[in-house]
Amino acid sequence: MNSPDSHRFDPPGRPAAPGSGWIEVVCGSMFSGKTEELLRRIKRARLARQPVLLFKPRIDNRYDAVKVVSHEGVTADALPVASADDLLGRVRAETAVVGIDEVQFFDGRIVAVAGILADRGVRVIAAGLDQDYRGEPFGPIGALLAVAEYATKLHAVCAVCGAHASRSQRLVASEAQLFVGGAAAYEARCRGCFVDDVLVSE
Ligand SMILES: [Zn+2]
Repeated sequence: MNSPDSHRFDPPGRPAAPGSGWIEVVCGSMFSGKTEELLRRIKRARLARQPVLLFKPRIDNRYDAVKVVSHEGVTADALPVASADDLLGRVRAETAVVGIDEVQFFDGRIVAVAGILADRGVRVIAAGLDQDYRGEPFGPIGALLAVAEYATKLHAVCAVCGAHASRSQRLVASEAQLFVGGAAAYEARCRGCFVDDVLVSE
């Protein structure tokens, strides 16, 4: 049986003209390799000398303000932005590829901004969590998946049973959706092993 993650998506070359861009979404639970996959696509475009910009929301400063850092320690320089329109304002005329890490932390405006860029001919690659710690759609990800040309769902390995994991189990008591406690506060779990709420006290 093929793993759901055995495919890799590698589109053709640089978008050629206005209207010929597209949106790619790379999503999944924590520890599913979303950021590695985003950085792999970004690196591949850079090797082809395509003008690339990589962004991340300013809210996420777990490790470094200006780098995208995967759990495995792979890094790339990224521009922290305060909002979707802040991101839009930093894209240059020559930019061919726009990467966005932790896209779930943007508000709904990021969907329109991704569309504006794709309409201009930009390849937009957005990576982020598809579900929050309760298993609910996280921020703008559902709408972004709906309008994307290409979607990749990655899976981690369930920390309890070893099956494909689609959910992020929070291990500490906090009800904030934006709680970013780092890797130690979560583990990946499959649908069957995921427990909603039970670890949240009171
Ligand atoms: Zn499991």
